[in-house]
Amino acid sequence: MSMQKRVDGIQQRIAQACARAGRDVESVRLIAVSKTYAPEHVQEAVECGLSVFGENRVYEAASKIPACPGHLEWEFIGHLQRNKVMRAVSLFQMLHGVDSLPLLRKVSACAGECGKTMPVCLEVNVSGESSKYGFAPDDVPGALEEANALMHVDVVGLMTIPPFTPDSEDARPFFQRLRELRDACSVPSGFELAELSMGMSGDFEVAIEEGATCVRVGTAIFGSRT
Ligand SMILES: *Cc1c(COP(=O)(O)O)cnc(C)c1O
Repeated sequence: MSMQKRVDGIQQRIAQACARAGRDVESVRLIAVSKTYAPEHVQEAVECGLSVFGENRVYEAASKIPACPGHLEWEFIGHLQRNKVMRAVSLFQMLHGVDSLPLLRKVSACAGECGKTMPVCLEVNVSGESSKYGFAPDDVPGALEEANALMHVDVVGLMTIPPFTPDSEDARPFFQRLRELRDACSVPSGFELAELSMGMSGDFEVAIEEGATCVRVGTAIFGSRT
């Protein structure tokens, strides 16, 4: 199947999930996760109408982004090491997966040095799996309070990765819990937390039904990574 057909199919499924949930299709952004894929593949995706790309390695992105068309938006979706924050802040328009207070502070400091304010999503480890990065749900209110005092980060929302499962329905409770956490935190924290970054190739429709505003889709667009 051509990439155009795959992208069209995904857009259609996004629209159908929005319709089921009574949501406006414009309320969901498709982030094309291009990690491990070369600039030629990004170019092909651009020709299919995509313009927002996600990467999870700073080093890889630093060589890829300059080799791609200049008008694209790049968002960092992975675990960010402290010594790569400055680079990430200058390369990316948004950071998903900010998973600790020290990292949040560092992002603010680096963004300040670059003269910008960085939009970020806090990653929440909803499932509590020890293999996963992210704030424990109970720690999110405190992190938001701390974020209020940081001048150069704007916490625009929450992000999560549910446990891997072949049945996307199994992911639904984790998406629900992220949305409930957002609803509970938004007013007291003073952050609108408009973004819910959740849903990947295998479960983006369920995520949209549960309120996702950005879905991070890789293999369903580019094919499986080797
Ligand atoms: C790789 C990755 C994705 C995309 O996963 P696919 O299953 O290929 O769609 C989404 N989010 C994060 C954080 C990732 O690392």
